[in-house]
Amino acid sequence: MIQISHVSKSYGSFDVLKDCSTTVNKGEVIVVCGPSGSGKSTLIKCVNGLEPFQSGEIIVNGTSVGDPKTNLSKLRAHVGMVFQNFELFPHMSITQNLAIAQVKVLGRAQDEAIDKGLKLLDRVGLKAHAHKFPGQLSGGQQQRVAIARALAMDPICMLFDEPTSALDPEMVNEVLDVMTELAREGMTMMCVTHEMGFARRVANRVIFMDHGQIVEDDEKEAFFANPRSERAQQFLAKIL
Ligand code: ATP
Ligand code: MG
Repeated sequence: MIQISHVSKSYGSFDVLKDCSTTVNKGEVIVVCGPSGSGKSTLIKCVNGLEPFQSGEIIVNGTSVGDPKTNLSKLRAHVGMVFQNFELFPHMSITQNLAIAQVKVLGRAQDEAIDKGLKLLDRVGLKAHAHKFPGQLSGGQQQRVAIARALAMDPICMLFDEPTSALDPEMVNEVLDVMTELAREGMTMMCVTHEMGFARRVANRVIFMDHGQIVEDDEKEAFFANPRSERAQQFLAKIL
């Protein structure tokens, strides 16, 4: 589903990504972790073309992301992305937030888009909040709306960049529960997160990044039992 092959990226003389390669198969859940500044967000943004890269190749569902002929808007329409800071449209109701991209990007009829949005809102446990505006919801609720909004586009895979790190601790689980359910239903997911409980329960593999490199790419059991690099051992010791 997602093939990342020898991807490198630099800002001037600073190498953000160094020869990164990994594959995410259909239905797999990959957790990406690593210290701040190690390139996690950059890598995940390269997958849906939000960040360009200078060398290597990324293929998403048969489409080469780096190919200048690729229609990136079309690709992004089917790659769901959820960020740290919800990014809902503040001046639109939850219903409108859920419907707008379906109408504008996929060309769905307004009624159909609203209907689908409300079904997904129900699925994330927020049906009663459809008429509200983002500012009237808690952070955890907003993030669940953001996930529902991404799902409304019928994504072929979902990318998450620290979806719970801006939340108060009591709201983290409600978002992780939605992600867990999504994984159980077979969604292909690449998740940057430091929620190691989630990684243990849900991930197939864990990628550990350091200084722009993929230092470890292991089955989760192997990663938690015995990380090979000293850097990952130190990281886990601090975080667990
Ligand atoms: P965090 O855990 O803090 O979110 P991260 O692993 O997601 O970190 P990135 O955001 O991918 O890290 O950034 C990787 C490195 O690239 C950092 O050192 C950052 O300062 C640098 N960087 C990111 N964007 C730019 C930019 N536009 N210009 C120059 N350097 C950048
Ligand atoms: Mg980041």
